[in-house]
Amino acid sequence: MSSDKKEPRSTIFDIDKEKDFPDWFGEICKVAELADIRYGVKGFTPFPPWSLMTMNNMFDILEEVLQRKDHLPMLFPTVIPESNLTKEAKHVEGFVPQVFWIEDTGDDEKLEERLALRPTSETAIYPMYSLWVRSWRDLPMKRYQRCSVFRSEIKSTRPFLRGREFLWIESHNVYASHDEVKAQVMEDLETTKEVVTDNFGIPVMVFRRTQWDKFPGGLNTYAADTLMPDGKVIQLPSTHDLGDNFARAFDITYLNENNETVYAWQTCYGPAISRIFGALISVHGDNKGLRLPFKIAPYQVVVIPIFRGDDADAVLKYCEDIQKTLKKAGLRVHIDKRDDTPGWKYNYWEMKGVPIRVEVGPRDLKGNKAVLFRRDTMDRETIDITDLKKKVLSLGTEIDKNLRRIAESRFEGLVVDADSFGAIEDALDKGKIARIPFCTTEMEGLSCDEEIKDRTGGEVRGTRIDVEEKPEGVCVACGKVATEIVYIARSY
Ligand SMILES: [Zn+2]
Repeated sequence: MSSDKKEPRSTIFDIDKEKDFPDWFGEICKVAELADIRYGVKGFTPFPPWSLMTMNNMFDILEEVLQRKDHLPMLFPTVIPESNLTKEAKHVEGFVPQVFWIEDTGDDEKLEERLALRPTSETAIYPMYSLWVRSWRDLPMKRYQRCSVFRSEIKSTRPFLRGREFLWIESHNVYASHDEVKAQVMEDLETTKEVVTDNFGIPVMVFRRTQWDKFPGGLNTYAADTLMPDGKVIQLPSTHDLGDNFARAFDITYLNENNETVYAWQTCYGPAISRIFGALISVHGDNKGLRLPFKIAPYQVVVIPIFRGDDADAVLKYCEDIQKTLKKAGLRVHIDKRDDTPGWKYNYWEMKGVPIRVEVGPRDLKGNKAVLFRRDTMDRETIDITDLKKKVLSLGTEIDKNLRRIAESRFEGLVVDADSFGAIEDALDKGKIARIPFCTTEMEGLSCDEEIKDRTGGEVRGTRIDVEEKPEGVCVACGKVATEIVYIARSY
């Protein structure tokens, strides 16, 4: 093997994630072939196989959970006529600045009505729901679509974390009562925890957003935040109690059991898989590259044959038997047969984040052994080949538990109480989340929120919903009697 052949291929990935997170993130997207920023349209990024295969596995898990909870898939067009978009005035106010518009066609003809590329699909779906929902027998209607949405974000863009086209699932549900809507919101938060935390190993804190920070047109927004390596939080799925606001705007009514026509109640829920993947890269990665959870890695196991002397054919055959055994157990397994050194391949797959590596050389073959390597701890052990399937399966479970444990440990001691701007800033500078007494009067709340942002760089993330918290003392921002406890963090 000539060494100059390998020169252009670099597997060296050694940037300190904690010290230099933005560089780390940019570099991992490039070297692990997750996103290529050379496409040439700001905020639009091609996703090569490694990221798409991972995101598809994430989508599959989320869809399995949604379908188990009786949500059915559907798919709406990408374009929304402008008149639909303006029907819900509040909603439009929130979204129009972010909309991409189609104004003419290829033969240079102006469209009679402008078409929006969907920024989110309430205004595409609800006019059809007003036709589909007829009577109480049609309810609840629980549906979702897996698609991409478009936002002409003004902030700087970054692959996965903030793109102008991103991949998501949006679930849109119609109910007969507001109580059912509230129950759906809680179910969505459970779904978030099951998918994002139990399956992807990303811990979250759940907040009810303040009134000025809610989804435009809705009654209340509930969102899950996780913590990034630079101490900023990022919003993962949010779910919205829309009340009957959209039903009134789009005329979604039904005949109740007394034969009266009444407005329906609605929720929507929008887990953005590409953004969750961005958080997953950041939360689980280390200075050697990605660390993918076993449940979602495109290859859960990579087998590396170590060829020495005349044993090449026998070693390869042994590797193929290993692959067959593991595939039969339902696992995603790849043999790296490329003409590179074993050491180069080790680095490569460590950088790609493959959870388990099996190394097989002539000596293992003779002793009916194999070497198992786990990416999360970088530990190796030699096993009997008869134990392979059992060992790999238990190691996979163990790796996912360990990645989650490491991520959760960063949440310990994360929240600190603060009673002044200085104390808030101090907490944020240490990468913490500040917990403060706050006032809720809408107008004053607005100014208190801005005051906090100006003085500390932190944003009000909202109130806890999993624990009831009673405020004492005065609002940190204005000194009036506090009416709630809110959490302040720097955010994406
Ligand atoms: Zn205040």
